[in-house]
This record gives sequence, structure tokens and C-alpha cells, in this order.
Amino acid sequence: MGKTEVHQDTYLVGLGVSPGIGIGRVCLLNRLYHVAEWELDETEVEDEVLRFRDALSAAATQLRDVKRKVASQPHLREHIYILDTHLLILEDEMLVSNTEVLIRQKQNAEKALNQTLKQLRLMFENIEDDYLRERSSDLDAVGQRLLRILAGISDTTLEQIKEKSLIAAHDLSPADTMQLDRSKVVGFLTDRGGKTSHTAILARSLGIPAVVGLESATTVVDNDVSAIIDGTTGVVVLNPSEETFREYLKRKLAFEYLEKELTRYRNLSAETTDHYEIALRANLEIVSEVPAAQEDGAVGIGLYRTEFLYMNCSQPPGEDEQFAAYSEIVDRISPHPVTIRTLDVGGDKFVQNLSLKHEDNPALGLRAIRFSLREVDLFKVQLRAILRASAVGQVRIMFPMISGVSEIRACKRILRAVSVELEQEGVLFDPQVKIGIMIETPAAVMIASLLAKEVDFFSIGTNDLIQYCLAVDRGNEHVSYLYEPLHPAILRALKQVCDAAHHAGIEVSMCGEMASEPMYLPVLIGLGLDELSMNHACIPRVKRVLRNLTQVESKEMLNALMQLSTGKEISAHLDREMRTRLPDLFDDSVI
Ligand code: PEP
Ligand code: MG
Repeated sequence: MGKTEVHQDTYLVGLGVSPGIGIGRVCLLNRLYHVAEWELDETEVEDEVLRFRDALSAAATQLRDVKRKVASQPHLREHIYILDTHLLILEDEMLVSNTEVLIRQKQNAEKALNQTLKQLRLMFENIEDDYLRERSSDLDAVGQRLLRILAGISDTTLEQIKEKSLIAAHDLSPADTMQLDRSKVVGFLTDRGGKTSHTAILARSLGIPAVVGLESATTVVDNDVSAIIDGTTGVVVLNPSEETFREYLKRKLAFEYLEKELTRYRNLSAETTDHYEIALRANLEIVSEVPAAQEDGAVGIGLYRTEFLYMNCSQPPGEDEQFAAYSEIVDRISPHPVTIRTLDVGGDKFVQNLSLKHEDNPALGLRAIRFSLREVDLFKVQLRAILRASAVGQVRIMFPMISGVSEIRACKRILRAVSVELEQEGVLFDPQVKIGIMIETPAAVMIASLLAKEVDFFSIGTNDLIQYCLAVDRGNEHVSYLYEPLHPAILRALKQVCDAAHHAGIEVSMCGEMASEPMYLPVLIGLGLDELSMNHACIPRVKRVLRNLTQVESKEMLNALMQLSTGKEISAHLDREMRTRLPDLFDDSVI
């Protein structure tokens, strides 16, 4: 694919998911492209076989290049095993000879390869051996690399990113995002994704401005095009004029100024003017984010997404490795609590080293607690590590995606068995450790009063709860307009959960992205939530608005919102109220 001419000031609009302005040159990691398929003439067959073999050797050269670069960077060295696996797949007899047979049946190389990949994928899925089954995602990666080479597309790899790059990609997995070098990347834009996709969540946590859901931006942008992204409004400007550049530079400086201003909220209490206190804690994906969370004034961690510990490594982390990570966080956050959520894989969080199968409907499949209850040995290792960390400070254990009482009872049974083991081994842990669940399925909402009898706390995972209640894939850009946190069904669900928790005398928190939106505070305070857990960078903004509201007016506002019939009406009403009551805080040039 040749270079695309980009006109000056070409505007694209997607979803702003991580605030801030990024200005730089585009580095295109991968793009949306179509696999061309055609039938060959008899005379073209041999040349096509050669084209396929050339693609195989070009792919091997690319992989060896990457391997050399990776080997020189200590923090990336553990990825070498993946590259070796990919090199081996390139030599696989089935892959090569099957594709060549199909080419000789007059299919072009892309079509033949695609068909071979489909057949191999099916075989992989039916393999008993976990290790081999896991290699299915490696096969996909190699297949994509070959298809791109055949289509003449030269993608950049993570290791080739230059300074001040704006990363453009059709899709960026959470595992890739974790590896981005923050000192080089000034922002990213993707065709796919929604506000609560995990890639977006990671971008916020890394403080990288991001615009997702651009649908087909990667068919327009090219490497080295200069660009601006506004992660607040979702606007992307390609090839900006001098005037546009100056305008965005001004906005960038204003944004950075406000960020500094907000630091003065760091040590102030999180309470309304009528003294309703709410604990503001941080969501954590990476251990190294702890100091930043503390600087932003987080009083503890309300959600530690442990699955990120399992990404980008050859083996799932063992008990000692997990204990080291958990106890480091708990120790540094002490005396405040750390809520450690057990492994939540599946959906858009694919972890290479686990025996996750390709599923037709992953969001409704073997995700989260369902996976842990099936892989009990793996689950026990994690529970042992978490329990051991509870001897270091205040730990709370949280189970994700519970949909019924029997699941939580099964979790507690396993936890009890692990506790007995540790006791017998004389290993220290807190026997009173608090146990909670995420409320993220409509079933959990409906039976909240039954679940409340089983646990010490609830935490509402609105990212998934909204997805499942409204039947809207949280990562699908085509339906993101339906993803409405203020939908009347969501407000009713939240109220039911909060009321059930408080009726049973347990605490209820919210750790989905909804908790970090200052505009929603009257709803969250009105519901009586005890804790909000969010990306640490949002804490000062939330605290600033919280300290200017009262619980009484929040309850009144929530009651009024509950009378309205659509998400749009509720959102417009709330927006109007907040701008009238707190004009200084909801001035667009300042938010
Ligand atoms: C949620 O679903 O709201 C949540 C916090 O969990 P995750 O985003 O990791 O699925
Ligand atoms: Mg969730």
C-alpha cells in the first residue's frame, strides 16, 4: 500500500478516552486492510509459490531483526521466547506445504494462506495439550505478519518507535499498550475500542492521551504524518496548519497548567460541604503506578487488576512472584487498604500464557471467576499469594464477574481450603481478611440482597455492568453511542445494589470508569456510595467537585433524574444543573 496524501487540517473524530493533547509524528503500528483474493492462471502458479516463499523469508528476517533489538534491552528480554516460537511456526510443515498445495490449486497466496490458517486454528482448538493449544494466538500473529508482507504493508514494531510518536493502530491490545515506552509515545489513536476497553483504561493510567473508535483512521494516516490528538474531545487533526498547531499548543499548555493547579487538592479531605465523606481510592494495573497514585491523593487501592501481572511473560507468575508484587503494593499503601481482585481474564484481556481458548462470544464465555473456578490450581496459587500479603497490611480480596450465590460459595470454599493449608504450614496471614465481589452482571444486581449476605463488601464494576445491562460491547466502536452510564436502567440497577448493600450493613464501592467522571458525582453521592475507585489521575478533579457539593442537593438531584425517561434527558438535565450550580468548575475551557 503506497503513501496516502493527507490534506492540511484533516479532521477525524473518535472517542477521547484519555485526556490531554498529544502532538507529534505518526508511527503506524498496524492498519486495517483487506485480504485480496483472486484466482490464478495456470501460468501464474509457480510465481505465486515463489511470492509466498519470499514472504516466509521476509517474515523470518523481520523476526530475527526484532529479536536482536529485544535482546539488547534487558526489560524486554523475556519476550524472546515468543519470537523464537514465531520463527518455528514459519518453518511449520503444515503451514508451508498446505498453503503451497492450495496455491497450486490456483488460489492466490493470501487466500491460500488464510485458508490454511483457518484449518490450523481449528486443529489447535481441539488439541488436549494446554501448551500447544495456547500457541494458537502465536499462529495468528505469524499469519497476520505474512499477510501484511504479501499485501506490501510494512508495519512498525513496538521496538522501532521513534521519539515523540503518536502511535496509530487498527487495534492495540492491553498487552501491547503495557509495553509502550512512555518517554517516546505522546499519544495514540486506534480504529477500534470504546471508552472502557482495557486499552483505554491503561492509556489513562499511563497518562498517555488517546483517541479510540476512529473506525478507519488507519486507512488515511501514514507513517511520519504530523498530527495532533485531543484525548478529551476525541478530535484528531492530521497535517495541522500553523494556525491549528498554535491553537492546540495553547490548549496543551492550559491542560498542563490545570493539572498542576489540581495538585493542591492532594491532601484535602474528600468530603462534601455538609461533611459526607467518601473514600477516594486508585485503580491499579501496574505496580510501578503506586507512587503516582499516592501523589494524586489516593487513600488506598480500590481495585488492583492482577491480570496485568500475567501478561507479557512466558509462564503465569508463581506464588512467590505474585506475593512479591502484592506485598510490595500493600506495604507501600499501608495503613490504607488494598483491594486485590483475583484474575479477570477473557473478554478483551487475552493472556498468552494461560489456556484460554478462542471463543465465539468471549464476553459471555469463560471469563474472570469462571476461569479461576475451572483452573483451581492456578486459582489456589493466587489466593495463597494474596493471603500471604494480608500479613503485611490491610488486604481485601475481590472476586470478579459473579453471577450467582453458588459461585461466591465456591470461592469461599477454596479460600478456606487454602487458609487451612497456610495455617498448617505455619505461614502468617490475616484470618479476618475481608471478602468482596464485583457487581457487574445483571443477575448480581437482581440478587444483590442474597449476595450481600455472603460477603463483606460490593464493588460495582460499571464498565461491564453497563455492557451487560444494555447489551453493548464495551470495546465496539459501532455501538458506543448506546453505551450510556446514565441510562435509566443503569441508575435503577445502581440504586438497587446500593440499597441492598446498606440494608445488609456492608460497604459498597464503585470501581468502574463511571466513578471517575466529576459530572456524575451527584448521582454517586446521592446513591450513598462509600468508596469510589478510579484512575489515580482523576482523583484531584473528582475531589475538587466533591468538595463543592452537598449530600442533600445530590439526593435531590438524583431523585429528579430518576423521574426522567432516557439517558439523553438525564445527561442533559445533570449537565444543566452542574453548570448552573458550579459554573467555574464546569467551564469547558477548564474541565
Ligand atoms: C468493571 O467492569 O467496571 C471493572 C472495573 O472491571 P474491568 O474494567 O477490569 O473489567
Ligand atoms: Mg469488569
